[in-house]
Amino acid sequence: MTRRLVLASNNAKKLLELQALFAPLGLELVTQGSLGIPEAEEPYPTFVENALTKARHAARASGGAAIADDSGLCVDSLGGAPGVLSARYATLFGGRRDDAENNAALLRQLGDRTDRRARFVCVLAAVRGADDPEPLIAMGRWEGSVLAEPRGEAGFGYDPLMFIASLGKSVAELGAEEKNRLSHRALAARQMLQLMQEVWFGRE
Ligand code: IMP
Repeated sequence: MTRRLVLASNNAKKLLELQALFAPLGLELVTQGSLGIPEAEEPYPTFVENALTKARHAARASGGAAIADDSGLCVDSLGGAPGVLSARYATLFGGRRDDAENNAALLRQLGDRTDRRARFVCVLAAVRGADDPEPLIAMGRWEGSVLAEPRGEAGFGYDPLMFIASLGKSVAELGAEEKNRLSHRALAARQMLQLMQEVWFGRE
């Protein structure tokens, strides 16, 4: 049986990663954009609040189950920035909302700091309907450090700047399959699959 879940994001690269990660449950992810649902506001200071808000918004607008991914890069020496503002970090400094400008803004903010420790964070929130009192929440983290210049072509967002010491590579130098085995999103998705199986589908 194919089960449909509305994805509260229009980020095509995120959709591809999540589609692969959720395939084992026979879940079909449909973007809210393809249903004509506008993006929700993301006004909160934490990933978990934004993820839940986005999932609830998509559930209300679609009348069905929805899942949201709120994610970003947190850099220790910048107090956790770009954090929840990862997608639009450059706009804080007068730039455009795109990956290249966000990466350039991050490098400028870090300057020649030696502490470049950072982590990717992903929170997935899923609800069966807008008023679901039992949202499912999963979180994944992926530790690395910010390079002095971009490396690699794959992935999206801050992937070219995120160096994973144990692999000796930036995330943009990994194949899609490898990223989908190790990433913050992969960890969160694995937890979410287990939660869905236990709480949603185990009771059908
Ligand atoms: P959101 O759509 O508000 O959750 O913003 C996510 C932003 O965080 C993206 O636009 C990227 O800048 C960053 N981000 C999240 N996940 C990743 C990833 O897997 N690789 C690189 N950047 C990511």
